Amino acid sequence: MYRGLDLAQITDDDETVAAALEDVSVPALVASVVHLTGDPSYLRGPIRPRAFIPNEFQGSLDQDERAELRRQALEAILAYRDAGFPKPVPLPPEVLRETMSWLACEEVAAEYVPMFMEEMNIDGSDPRRIEIDCLDEATRQSISVVVIGCGQSGLLAGVRLAQAGIPFTIIEKNPDVGGTWYENTYPGCRVDVGNHFYCYSFEPNDSFSEFFSRQPELYRYFRDVMQRWGIAGQVEWRTEVVSLSWDEERALWDVVSRGPDGTERHRDADIVVCAVGQLNLPYVPDLPGLSNFDGPVFHTARWDHDVDLAGKRVAMIGAGASGFQVGPAIANEVDHLVVFQRSAQWMAPNAKYREAVGDGVKWAMRHLPGYASWYRFMLLYQASDKALAVVRIDPDWPGLPESANAISEERRKILVGWIEKHVGDDAELLAKVLPDYPPMGKRLLQDDGSWLRCLKRENVEMVRDEIVRIERSGVVTADACHEVDVIVLATGFRANEMLAPMNIVGRGGARLAEQWGVAPAAHLGITVPGFPNLFLLYGPGTNLAHAGSIIFHSECQMQFIGAALRTLLAGGHRSIEVTQKTYDDYVERLQAELAETVWAHPSVRHSWYKGPDGRVHVLSPWRLVDYWRMTKYPDFSGYMFDGGSVPSP
Ligand SMILES: Cc1cc2nc3c(=O)[nH]c(=O)nc-3n(C[C@H](O)[C@H](O)[C@H](O)COP(=O)(O)OP(=O)(O)OC[C@H]3O[C@@H](n4cnc5c(N)ncnc54)[C@H](O)[C@@H]3O)c2cc1C
Repeated sequence: MYRGLDLAQITDDDETVAAALEDVSVPALVASVVHLTGDPSYLRGPIRPRAFIPNEFQGSLDQDERAELRRQALEAILAYRDAGFPKPVPLPPEVLRETMSWLACEEVAAEYVPMFMEEMNIDGSDPRRIEIDCLDEATRQSISVVVIGCGQSGLLAGVRLAQAGIPFTIIEKNPDVGGTWYENTYPGCRVDVGNHFYCYSFEPNDSFSEFFSRQPELYRYFRDVMQRWGIAGQVEWRTEVVSLSWDEERALWDVVSRGPDGTERHRDADIVVCAVGQLNLPYVPDLPGLSNFDGPVFHTARWDHDVDLAGKRVAMIGAGASGFQVGPAIANEVDHLVVFQRSAQWMAPNAKYREAVGDGVKWAMRHLPGYASWYRFMLLYQASDKALAVVRIDPDWPGLPESANAISEERRKILVGWIEKHVGDDAELLAKVLPDYPPMGKRLLQDDGSWLRCLKRENVEMVRDEIVRIERSGVVTADACHEVDVIVLATGFRANEMLAPMNIVGRGGARLAEQWGVAPAAHLGITVPGFPNLFLLYGPGTNLAHAGSIIFHSECQMQFIGAALRTLLAGGHRSIEVTQKTYDDYVERLQAELAETVWAHPSVRHSWYKGPDGRVHVLSPWRLVDYWRMTKYPDFSGYMFDGGSVPSP
């Protein structure tokens, strides 16, 4: 059930309300009380959060302090109930910032406040909606937009275009919505960004059953959003876009798609939005003999639910983000699990990772003005830009490659402590699971101890040796043959083959795949010179390894696209295109930033963050606030219109 600001009225008695408050984040509760009373004095008493600890949400308040703040909050909430739910008066900007700083346990920099306010959508005004009011109805209806893909990005594009009244069609190769969250049905699959932030800002959800939801719940969330916004009727399912060609004369894209019966169809589009994801093409390693294996072999993103793993000997090849979730989910069912891992993973302690959302939290999100938004703020704040300090390499740091700088070293000690605590005195296992590269060199995985508990089981074995070949009955390494019945490929995705296998032909017959070679790039991850009226969502240089959620980024990108459409249409132009210079300058800056991060460091091997040229092309190195600003207030002076025949604004 999605309520946004359509809160339910409190009809509960005093005891029920008091009981609900036992579950909640007390700092977020206090912020909500400030919101519903308009009274900032709740922030100014002697009790205040002491330390902002990620995934803790209680600000390190002790039991007595929490009880006192709950008592004050209860009084205010009961008064609000008894007064008949008066509409909260908007808080002045200085109180909003004071509330943020109180929750964050430090002064929140002014430049962040508008970004946080937008993400929190506290008044329900949906400030990221696209409005294009410069068109008469006939012109509006004559525009054609094709969106490729109906994962979260494509669905978002659909919602925003629908809000703007712009006609569109979404073409999706799957039979249903969700993309990642439709395809990855492997055991244990769940999000590793807090779910109340990994959802659209305009569709907060008060009914997630876990703080880090499993795949079925995420899939349902996207399906419900699609239904609420009536998007399904504009999607062509089971249809794959195979090529796009720019028709210079008509200033249109020729979009070629292949339908469920294999027939190809051409259609014109003024605008194309590519929302095909970075992690949609499974990577199947070229292991000698793999096709000769006698038993079932499948990729995590193509999980074969007909294969019963109970009592089977299973090889799991790869143990990155997906394998890390699969292992603990199947270990107690299989006879034997052999995990083949090329490099160890850093994991962050997170007690909430498999925790259920208490009824009190759901109650608060449903009934208390501002609670869900302030809780979302806490999630975003912990996922904001601080981690960039961990990933930037200090060239003079003597601790390389174990750590990248002094802060990275501090982080490393905490992460090593967590691993050692769970491994205990098993020196052999410890040697296998301690990474030999700086923290955050690869995706930092969320852990509640399950992974290491799994590896310590009698029936689980961790192998760090290279796989030499696959034989009919097992996996062969330099000095052993591991006999197994099933092979699970937890080998990730062809992330660097951006937009593949589509053939995209732009101005003058330029092929995007050739233009990019092994180095895909786009201005702000969204536009490429020579490819007018083509916009990418979750394009090159936009994956997030230090902060945020991809949904946050997609919403930023969609704001940019909205602004581009407005500029294009208001000016009566036929095409908009980034100039080569704007693109080159941007890519140079992006690569210079990325080169100084742990993601690019040579000690980080076997990382999908790196392309075949050893450089990083998929990630964003920017502070969220900078990317937000660049996409919220785009500068189109570096763009050209109608192929350069019209000066840019
Ligand atoms: C297992 C897993 C866990 C993840 N966990 C997180 C997380 O915790 N936090 C986070 O921020 N991100 C996470 N990600 C990244 C995730 O991919 C993004 O968060 C997000 O789901 C991407 O959405 P998208 O719509 O851009 O792409 P996708 O979800 O990949 O959707 C792309 C869609 O495009 C369709 N498509 C592709 N090519 C074509 C074509 N030629 N024609 C028609 N349709 C096409 C696909 O079928 C798909 O439906 C995870 C990814 C995986 C694989």
